[in-house]
Amino acid sequence: MILNERKVPIPLLQREALLRRIDKLHSRFKDIEKELINWKTGYSGEKNVDYYLSYLPDEPYRIINDLRLKCNNTFQIDSLIFSQMFGLVIEIKNITGTLFFDKYTKGVVRTYKDSEEGIANPLTQARRHRTQLISWMIKHKIPPMPIEYLVVFSKNSTIVRTNEGNESIFEHIIYAEYLEEKVAQIAAKYNSPAFKGKALNKLCDYILSENIPSYPEILKTYGISQSDIIRGVQCPTCKAIPIIRVSSAWYCPDCKTYSKDAHLQTVRDYFLLMNSPMTLKQFQEFLLIEQRGVAKNLLHSLSLPSTGTGRTTQYFIPPDCILSPL
Ligand SMILES: [Zn+2]
Repeated sequence: MILNERKVPIPLLQREALLRRIDKLHSRFKDIEKELINWKTGYSGEKNVDYYLSYLPDEPYRIINDLRLKCNNTFQIDSLIFSQMFGLVIEIKNITGTLFFDKYTKGVVRTYKDSEEGIANPLTQARRHRTQLISWMIKHKIPPMPIEYLVVFSKNSTIVRTNEGNESIFEHIIYAEYLEEKVAQIAAKYNSPAFKGKALNKLCDYILSENIPSYPEILKTYGISQSDIIRGVQCPTCKAIPIIRVSSAWYCPDCKTYSKDAHLQTVRDYFLLMNSPMTLKQFQEFLLIEQRGVAKNLLHSLSLPSTGTGRTTQYFIPPDCILSPL
Protein backbone atom coordinates (compact mmCIF):
# COMPACT_ATOMS: atom_id res chain seq x y z
CA MET A 1 0.00 0.00 0.00
CA ILE A 2 1.44 3.35 -1.03
CA LEU A 3 0.93 5.69 1.93
CA ASN A 4 1.94 8.95 0.25
CA GLU A 5 2.19 9.86 -3.42
CA ARG A 6 5.49 11.30 -4.58
CA LYS A 7 5.08 14.99 -5.34
CA VAL A 8 7.08 17.26 -7.61
CA PRO A 9 10.05 18.26 -5.41
CA ILE A 10 9.91 21.84 -4.12
CA PRO A 11 13.58 22.46 -5.12
CA LEU A 12 12.59 21.58 -8.72
CA LEU A 13 9.62 23.99 -8.66
CA GLN A 14 11.85 26.67 -7.10
CA ARG A 15 14.35 26.41 -9.95
CA GLU A 16 11.57 26.65 -12.54
CA ALA A 17 10.26 29.74 -10.75
CA LEU A 18 13.76 31.27 -10.64
CA LEU A 19 14.31 30.77 -14.36
CA ARG A 20 11.02 32.56 -15.03
CA ARG A 21 12.01 35.45 -12.81
CA ILE A 22 15.65 36.29 -13.30
CA ASP A 23 17.24 37.87 -16.34
CA LYS A 24 18.59 35.35 -18.88
CA LEU A 25 21.92 37.17 -18.62
CA HIS A 26 22.06 36.72 -14.84
CA SER A 27 25.38 35.13 -13.78
CA ARG A 28 23.59 32.16 -12.16
CA PHE A 29 21.06 31.50 -14.96
CA LYS A 30 23.07 28.71 -16.64
CA ASP A 31 23.86 26.97 -13.31
CA ILE A 32 20.19 26.95 -12.37
CA GLU A 33 19.22 25.62 -15.81
CA LYS A 34 21.74 22.79 -15.45
CA GLU A 35 20.62 21.87 -11.95
CA LEU A 36 16.97 21.97 -13.00
CA ILE A 37 17.77 19.29 -15.59
CA ASN A 38 19.35 17.14 -12.84
CA TRP A 39 16.27 17.56 -10.64
CA LYS A 40 13.97 16.64 -13.53
CA THR A 41 16.07 13.57 -14.39
CA GLY A 42 16.01 12.45 -10.76
CA TYR A 43 12.27 13.01 -10.46
CA SER A 44 11.44 11.16 -13.67
CA GLY A 45 13.58 8.22 -12.47
CA GLU A 46 11.64 8.19 -9.21
CA LYS A 47 8.30 8.25 -11.05
CA ASN A 48 9.47 5.32 -13.15
CA VAL A 49 10.34 3.33 -10.02
CA ASP A 50 6.92 4.27 -8.55
CA TYR A 51 5.35 2.33 -11.39
CA TYR A 52 7.13 -0.85 -10.24
CA LEU A 53 6.49 -0.08 -6.56
CA SER A 54 2.78 0.01 -7.39
CA TYR A 55 2.99 -3.71 -8.26
CA LEU A 56 3.91 -4.66 -4.69
CA PRO A 57 0.89 -6.22 -2.98
CA ASP A 58 -1.02 -3.92 -0.59
CA GLU A 59 -0.52 -6.57 2.05
CA PRO A 60 1.91 -6.87 3.71
CA TYR A 61 3.73 -3.83 2.31
CA ARG A 62 3.58 -0.18 3.34
CA ILE A 63 5.43 2.27 1.09
CA ILE A 64 6.50 5.75 2.16
CA ASN A 65 7.95 7.98 -0.56
CA ASP A 66 10.29 10.94 -0.32
CA LEU A 67 10.81 10.77 3.40
CA ARG A 68 12.90 13.41 5.12
CA LEU A 69 13.75 12.90 8.79
CA LYS A 70 15.99 14.69 11.23
CA CYS A 71 18.49 12.86 13.40
CA ASN A 72 21.41 15.22 14.12
CA ASN A 73 21.50 15.83 10.36
CA THR A 74 18.52 15.69 8.04
CA PHE A 75 18.45 12.73 5.69
CA GLN A 76 16.20 11.84 2.78
CA ILE A 77 15.03 8.39 1.73
CA ASP A 78 13.63 8.07 -1.82
CA SER A 79 11.33 5.20 -0.85
CA LEU A 80 10.96 3.20 2.35
CA ILE A 81 9.13 -0.13 2.37
CA PHE A 82 7.92 -1.81 5.53
CA SER A 83 6.40 -5.16 6.24
CA GLN A 84 5.81 -6.54 9.74
CA MET A 85 9.14 -8.34 9.44
CA PHE A 86 11.57 -5.85 7.91
CA GLY A 87 12.18 -2.39 6.50
CA LEU A 88 13.83 -1.62 3.15
CA VAL A 89 15.57 1.66 2.28
CA ILE A 90 15.56 2.39 -1.45
CA GLU A 91 17.93 4.80 -3.16
CA ILE A 92 16.73 5.58 -6.71
CA LYS A 93 19.19 6.52 -9.45
CA ASN A 94 18.50 7.69 -12.97
CA ILE A 95 21.94 7.77 -14.56
CA THR A 96 22.94 7.53 -18.21
CA GLY A 97 26.07 5.62 -19.18
CA THR A 98 28.27 2.94 -17.64
CA LEU A 99 29.10 2.85 -13.94
CA PHE A 100 32.16 1.12 -12.56
CA PHE A 101 32.07 0.35 -8.81
CA ASP A 102 35.74 0.15 -7.81
CA LYS A 103 36.42 -2.48 -5.17
CA TYR A 104 39.63 -0.76 -4.01
CA THR A 105 38.82 2.95 -3.94
CA LYS A 106 35.09 2.39 -3.14
CA GLY A 107 34.52 5.11 -5.73
CA VAL A 108 32.22 5.01 -8.75
CA VAL A 109 33.35 6.11 -12.19
CA ARG A 110 30.72 7.04 -14.75
CA THR A 111 31.61 6.75 -18.42
CA TYR A 112 29.44 8.42 -20.97
CA LYS A 113 30.29 9.41 -24.53
CA ASP A 114 34.03 8.77 -24.00
CA SER A 115 34.31 10.98 -20.95
CA GLU A 116 34.84 9.77 -17.41
CA GLU A 117 33.82 11.33 -14.12
CA GLY A 118 33.76 10.21 -10.50
CA ILE A 119 30.31 10.28 -8.92
CA ALA A 120 28.98 9.74 -5.38
CA ASN A 121 28.73 6.02 -4.64
CA PRO A 122 24.98 5.19 -4.49
CA LEU A 123 25.68 2.11 -2.33
CA THR A 124 27.46 4.25 0.26
CA GLN A 125 24.52 6.68 0.17
CA ALA A 126 21.95 3.90 0.61
CA ARG A 127 23.95 2.36 3.48
CA ARG A 128 24.30 5.77 5.16
CA HIS A 129 20.54 6.35 4.93
CA ARG A 130 19.95 2.92 6.44
CA THR A 131 22.29 3.72 9.36
CA GLN A 132 20.62 7.12 9.83
CA LEU A 133 17.16 5.51 9.83
CA ILE A 134 18.26 2.97 12.45
CA SER A 135 19.67 5.77 14.67
CA TRP A 136 16.45 7.74 14.19
CA MET A 137 14.36 4.70 15.20
CA ILE A 138 16.49 4.15 18.32
CA LYS A 139 16.18 7.84 19.26
CA HIS A 140 12.40 7.62 18.87
CA LYS A 141 12.24 4.43 20.95
CA ILE A 142 10.91 2.32 18.08
CA PRO A 143 11.50 -1.40 18.64
CA PRO A 144 14.34 -2.72 16.47
CA MET A 145 13.64 -4.53 13.22
CA PRO A 146 15.92 -5.63 10.38
CA ILE A 147 16.49 -2.80 7.88
CA GLU A 148 17.74 -3.68 4.40
CA TYR A 149 18.92 -1.36 1.64
CA LEU A 150 18.84 -1.31 -2.15
CA VAL A 151 20.05 0.89 -4.96
CA VAL A 152 17.47 0.84 -7.75
CA PHE A 153 18.43 2.02 -11.23
CA SER A 154 15.35 3.40 -12.90
CA LYS A 155 16.34 2.29 -16.39
CA ASN A 156 18.06 -0.79 -17.77
CA SER A 157 20.29 1.32 -20.00
CA THR A 158 22.50 2.12 -17.00
CA ILE A 159 25.32 -0.42 -17.32
CA VAL A 160 26.84 -1.46 -14.00
CA ARG A 161 30.26 -3.10 -13.66
CA THR A 162 32.74 -3.94 -10.93
CA ASN A 163 36.06 -5.73 -10.31
CA GLU A 164 36.28 -9.51 -10.27
CA GLY A 165 35.57 -10.78 -6.76
CA ASN A 166 33.36 -7.81 -5.89
CA GLU A 167 30.14 -9.22 -7.36
CA SER A 168 28.51 -9.30 -3.90
CA ILE A 169 27.59 -5.62 -4.41
CA PHE A 170 24.91 -6.82 -6.84
CA GLU A 171 23.01 -8.15 -3.83
CA HIS A 172 22.13 -4.51 -3.24
CA ILE A 173 21.88 -3.15 -6.79
CA ILE A 174 18.95 -3.87 -9.09
CA TYR A 175 17.05 -2.47 -12.04
CA ALA A 176 13.56 -1.15 -11.33
CA GLU A 177 11.77 -3.88 -13.29
CA TYR A 178 13.26 -6.50 -10.92
CA LEU A 179 11.97 -4.75 -7.80
CA GLU A 180 8.96 -6.97 -7.12
CA GLU A 181 11.02 -10.17 -7.30
CA LYS A 182 13.81 -8.70 -5.19
CA VAL A 183 11.42 -7.62 -2.43
CA ALA A 184 9.93 -11.14 -2.39
CA GLN A 185 13.45 -12.57 -2.15
CA ILE A 186 14.29 -10.32 0.83
CA ALA A 187 10.94 -11.13 2.47
CA ALA A 188 11.73 -14.86 2.28
CA LYS A 189 14.67 -14.30 4.66
CA TYR A 190 12.43 -13.26 7.54
CA ASN A 191 9.72 -15.11 9.41
CA SER A 192 9.27 -13.43 12.77
CA PRO A 193 7.26 -10.20 12.83
CA ALA A 194 8.78 -7.21 14.65
CA PHE A 195 5.40 -5.47 14.53
CA LYS A 196 2.13 -7.29 15.04
CA GLY A 197 -1.49 -6.31 14.35
CA LYS A 198 -1.98 -2.58 13.95
CA ALA A 199 1.50 -1.73 15.26
CA LEU A 200 2.90 -1.47 11.73
CA ASN A 201 0.25 1.08 10.69
CA LYS A 202 0.96 3.07 13.85
CA LEU A 203 4.68 3.03 13.08
CA CYS A 204 4.06 4.29 9.52
CA ASP A 205 1.67 7.02 10.73
CA TYR A 206 4.27 8.13 13.24
CA ILE A 207 7.07 8.22 10.67
CA LEU A 208 4.89 10.24 8.26
CA SER A 209 4.05 12.71 11.05
CA GLU A 210 7.80 13.28 11.55
CA ASN A 211 8.43 13.91 7.84
CA ILE A 212 9.96 17.35 7.21
CA PRO A 213 9.40 18.34 3.56
CA SER A 214 12.33 20.17 2.00
CA TYR A 215 11.78 23.89 1.45
CA PRO A 216 15.18 25.48 0.82
CA GLU A 217 15.86 29.21 0.82
CA ILE A 218 16.59 29.12 -2.86
CA LEU A 219 17.70 32.75 -3.25
CA LYS A 220 20.36 32.16 -0.58
CA THR A 221 21.41 28.91 -2.29
CA TYR A 222 22.35 30.86 -5.42
CA GLY A 223 23.32 34.13 -3.72
CA ILE A 224 20.55 35.96 -5.57
CA SER A 225 19.06 39.10 -4.01
CA GLN A 226 15.33 39.80 -3.92
CA SER A 227 15.89 42.84 -6.13
CA ASP A 228 17.07 40.51 -8.95
CA ILE A 229 13.63 38.87 -9.02
CA ILE A 230 11.44 40.16 -11.84
CA ARG A 231 8.03 41.15 -10.50
CA GLY A 232 4.69 41.07 -12.27
CA VAL A 233 2.30 38.51 -13.68
CA GLN A 234 3.59 36.31 -16.51
CA CYS A 235 1.71 35.86 -19.77
CA PRO A 236 0.74 32.17 -20.02
CA THR A 237 0.99 32.34 -23.82
CA CYS A 238 4.19 34.22 -24.70
CA LYS A 239 5.78 34.24 -21.19
CA ALA A 240 6.21 38.04 -21.15
CA ILE A 241 6.38 39.72 -17.72
CA PRO A 242 4.54 41.86 -16.68
CA ILE A 243 1.08 41.68 -18.17
CA ILE A 244 -1.60 44.13 -17.06
CA ARG A 245 -4.86 43.96 -15.14
CA VAL A 246 -7.85 45.12 -17.17
CA SER A 247 -11.36 44.93 -15.71
CA SER A 248 -11.57 41.28 -14.54
CA ALA A 249 -8.77 39.68 -16.57
CA TRP A 250 -5.06 39.87 -17.40
CA TYR A 251 -4.07 41.30 -20.77
CA CYS A 252 -0.75 40.80 -22.54
CA PRO A 253 0.19 43.86 -24.63
CA ASP A 254 2.83 41.75 -26.45
CA CYS A 255 0.72 38.89 -27.81
CA LYS A 256 -2.69 40.53 -27.24
CA THR A 257 -4.17 37.60 -25.31
CA TYR A 258 -6.33 37.58 -22.18
CA SER A 259 -6.10 35.28 -19.18
CA LYS A 260 -8.36 34.80 -16.17
CA ASP A 261 -5.94 33.04 -13.85
CA ALA A 262 -2.40 34.08 -14.85
CA HIS A 263 -1.86 35.46 -11.33
CA LEU A 264 -1.99 31.98 -9.74
CA GLN A 265 1.46 31.04 -10.95
CA THR A 266 2.83 34.43 -9.85
CA VAL A 267 1.52 33.86 -6.33
CA ARG A 268 3.12 30.39 -6.29
CA ASP A 269 6.37 31.90 -7.54
CA TYR A 270 6.30 34.40 -4.66
CA PHE A 271 5.99 31.61 -2.08
CA LEU A 272 8.55 29.38 -3.80
CA LEU A 273 11.17 32.12 -3.95
CA MET A 274 10.60 34.32 -0.91
CA ASN A 275 10.21 31.71 1.87
CA SER A 276 7.83 33.98 3.74
CA PRO A 277 4.12 34.62 4.16
CA MET A 278 2.54 37.40 2.10
CA THR A 279 0.71 40.57 3.13
CA LEU A 280 -1.73 42.45 0.90
CA LYS A 281 0.98 45.08 0.31
CA GLN A 282 3.49 42.42 -0.79
CA PHE A 283 0.85 40.81 -3.03
CA GLN A 284 0.12 44.19 -4.65
CA GLU A 285 3.82 44.95 -5.13
CA PHE A 286 4.77 41.50 -6.45
CA LEU A 287 1.90 41.36 -8.94
CA LEU A 288 2.35 45.06 -9.86
CA ILE A 289 -1.32 45.88 -9.29
CA GLU A 290 -1.87 49.64 -9.10
CA GLN A 291 -5.15 49.79 -7.17
CA ARG A 292 -5.22 48.43 -3.64
CA GLY A 293 -8.93 47.53 -3.93
CA VAL A 294 -8.31 45.40 -7.03
CA ALA A 295 -5.41 43.63 -5.29
CA LYS A 296 -7.54 43.04 -2.21
CA ASN A 297 -10.39 41.41 -4.14
CA LEU A 298 -8.03 39.24 -6.14
CA LEU A 299 -6.11 38.13 -3.03
CA HIS A 300 -9.34 37.28 -1.20
CA SER A 301 -10.56 35.28 -4.19
CA LEU A 302 -7.63 32.89 -3.63
CA SER A 303 -8.93 31.88 -0.16
CA LEU A 304 -5.40 31.37 1.13
CA PRO A 305 -4.92 30.32 4.74
CA SER A 306 -4.17 33.41 6.84
CA THR A 307 -3.32 34.70 10.30
CA GLY A 308 -3.97 38.15 11.82
CA THR A 309 -6.48 40.81 10.82
CA GLY A 310 -6.58 44.02 8.79
CA ARG A 311 -3.35 45.36 7.30
CA THR A 312 -1.20 42.93 9.25
CA THR A 313 -2.94 39.83 7.85
CA GLN A 314 -0.41 37.32 6.59
CA TYR A 315 -1.33 34.82 3.89
CA PHE A 316 0.17 31.37 3.32
CA ILE A 317 0.00 28.94 0.47
CA PRO A 318 -1.77 25.63 1.25
CA PRO A 319 0.85 22.85 0.99
CA ASP A 320 -1.20 20.78 -1.47
CA CYS A 321 -1.59 23.78 -3.74
CA ILE A 322 2.09 24.51 -3.96
CA LEU A 323 3.00 20.89 -4.43
CA SER A 324 0.65 20.28 -7.32
CA PRO A 325 2.30 20.32 -10.75
CA LEU A 326 2.03 23.79 -12.21
ZN1 LIG B 1 1.76 37.28 -24.17
